[in-house]
Amino acid sequence: MSKLDFILEELVTANRILANEGIVDSFGHVSARHPDNPQHYLLSRARAPERIERDDIVEYALDGTAIDERGRAPYLERFIHGAVYEARPDVQAVVHNHSPSVIPFGVTGKKLKPLLHMCASIGHDVPVWDSHDKFGDTTLLVTDMAMGRDLAASLGPRPTALMRGHGATVVGRSVRHAVFVSVYLEVGAKLQMQSMAMGDIKFLTPGEVDKIVARVTDYTLNRAWENWARRAGREMQKQV
Ligand code: MN
Repeated sequence: MSKLDFILEELVTANRILANEGIVDSFGHVSARHPDNPQHYLLSRARAPERIERDDIVEYALDGTAIDERGRAPYLERFIHGAVYEARPDVQAVVHNHSPSVIPFGVTGKKLKPLLHMCASIGHDVPVWDSHDKFGDTTLLVTDMAMGRDLAASLGPRPTALMRGHGATVVGRSVRHAVFVSVYLEVGAKLQMQSMAMGDIKFLTPGEVDKIVARVTDYTLNRAWENWARRAGREMQKQV
């Protein structure tokens, strides 16, 4: 199996997992940097993640131009992906979602921070990108590279950023990593809201976050991936 075949199958599985775990609904998307050309990325045509098949996945240049579109209409918000790959050579996969529990943290000014060991991978703190700051009244959708680049700047070197009144963008060193962080971003946000209702929170310390993140190895990611993939009706592929 070629690296490209592997990534295309990974993306189908990632879409099914994110849908099955409630991280995306009919909207939201996941991409991977092209394994043979770092200036390109792979992303489905505009379709609900739960329905995506391998033939839906289109190759794009970083500016969002399709390489071989064949009538497959693109996501309006594909610029999120290209702008992040452009800014972050370390990133191999990007998830954009409207994960429900993260939304309150984008609109209230309450900072989302890790409080559970499994959530350390969301980063020390999660910035909120507000499209209104620079772009004024919009649909809140990231519809061009200028907006994508502004979001990528807000993300900076971090793993996650929230988008005010909209959702979140999560990056990873692999498709499995980006999916893992996306699932635990939702878990962490929900737990933080529950904890805030009970009283003051003792968050993970910065040192704890660093130690935990160093232990999130392929072993960890694969254990979650195998389970989530099976639950979504897909098999875990052997790493290529
Ligand atoms: Mn969106």
